[in-house]
Amino acid sequence: MTSFLAARPLNPIYSALPTTIFEVMSQLARTHEAVNLGQGFPDDPGPLDVRQKAADAVVNGWNQYPPMMGLPELRQAAAAHFQRWQGLSLDPETEVMVTSGATEALAGALLALIEPGDEVVLFQPLYDAYLPLVQRAGGIARLVRLEPPHWTITEEKLAAAFSDRTKLVLLNNPQNPTGVVHSREELQRVADFCQRFGAYAVCDEVWEHVIFDGRVFESMMALPGMRERTVKISSAGKIFGMTGWKVGLVLAAPPLMKVLSKAHQFLTFTTPPNLQAAVAYGLGKEDAYFTTMRAGLQRSRDRLADGLAGLGFRVLPSAGTYFLNIDLSAHSNTPDDESFCLDLVKTHGVATIPVSAFYADDAVRSVVRFCFAKTDATIDRALERLARVRLAA
Ligand code: PMP
Ligand code: GLN
Repeated sequence: MTSFLAARPLNPIYSALPTTIFEVMSQLARTHEAVNLGQGFPDDPGPLDVRQKAADAVVNGWNQYPPMMGLPELRQAAAAHFQRWQGLSLDPETEVMVTSGATEALAGALLALIEPGDEVVLFQPLYDAYLPLVQRAGGIARLVRLEPPHWTITEEKLAAAFSDRTKLVLLNNPQNPTGVVHSREELQRVADFCQRFGAYAVCDEVWEHVIFDGRVFESMMALPGMRERTVKISSAGKIFGMTGWKVGLVLAAPPLMKVLSKAHQFLTFTTPPNLQAAVAYGLGKEDAYFTTMRAGLQRSRDRLADGLAGLGFRVLPSAGTYFLNIDLSAHSNTPDDESFCLDLVKTHGVATIPVSAFYADDAVRSVVRFCFAKTDATIDRALERLARVRLAA
């Protein structure tokens, strides 16, 4: 008689993971017909000329494999774009790679750089993809806990996290979910630790164009001594406000890029050529396109912030991204962020994101994230519903 063994356990990292909070809240928003200020995506369909370029490239252009490193026109456009906006000098041939979104770029960078047992410094609250990717690559996470209202990266926190086993630091700036743009001093602090411990900096800079109040974005790559040890990651989805467009950019010095490209070649190998062609066109758009986009989002931020403050919520500052947060700790009758968000979507019909979902341990449980990249009508509808929430002083 044949004997059967029960199938072996699946990978424990993925088996233990809950469904991402963005999917959970968007599903609840659909079920409860809520205004969705949870998952970060704009109401606006994105620039028409860039979409038309993509449509034209689908109908009349090349629909077979593009080159593994990306269309030459996109790599050239990316180098020119980051020279113009961030003063970076990049060789399109050896220092620019196109990926299928920043998500693939992150996965590839972590797989290519981490050896099992390496330590990786991460900042909490952290974008939810980071930790499982680091762990699956065999990395040991060293978590730095940042706290509201300023979420500052201090010397003491870095000193407690870095060691002679630190392989890399993974930094998101501007930061999702806090809306913080880290100061030059904080970036310099991180850079100093990288140099002192021989570590790389993998910098998720996907929100680089979404910054407000006249800020100028500074890439980690531009800091003294960081050019050769930084992997810069960008996303067309965020640059053009079309989050379904999974076109990412990786920028790194040639010795790093050589290895990063080996991970890319066996993750996705390429990215749809028509979207690449449209992004190449878009990156060359006049400065006014980008400054107008910022101004529009800044107006939406202020509309939501003023509305929430008017309803008695404590609004935390937002310097960039599509997000602003409220801190519930000021109110004596509020439950934790997760219960608040569940009640809000089910009872009042507004979907948001509990920021505790971005912590792996010792979570801050009083902060709730709102996406303001919405029309005035959407924001106003959410505020009308939020007016029914009862808060104690
Ligand atoms: N990193 C951060 C911090 C993000 O907020 C996002 C998307 N919201 C990504 C990465 C993923 O970018 P993409 O859609 O280009 O994969
Ligand atoms: N980055 C988006 C956000 O923060 C969501 C991305 C996703 O749904 N995976 O809302």
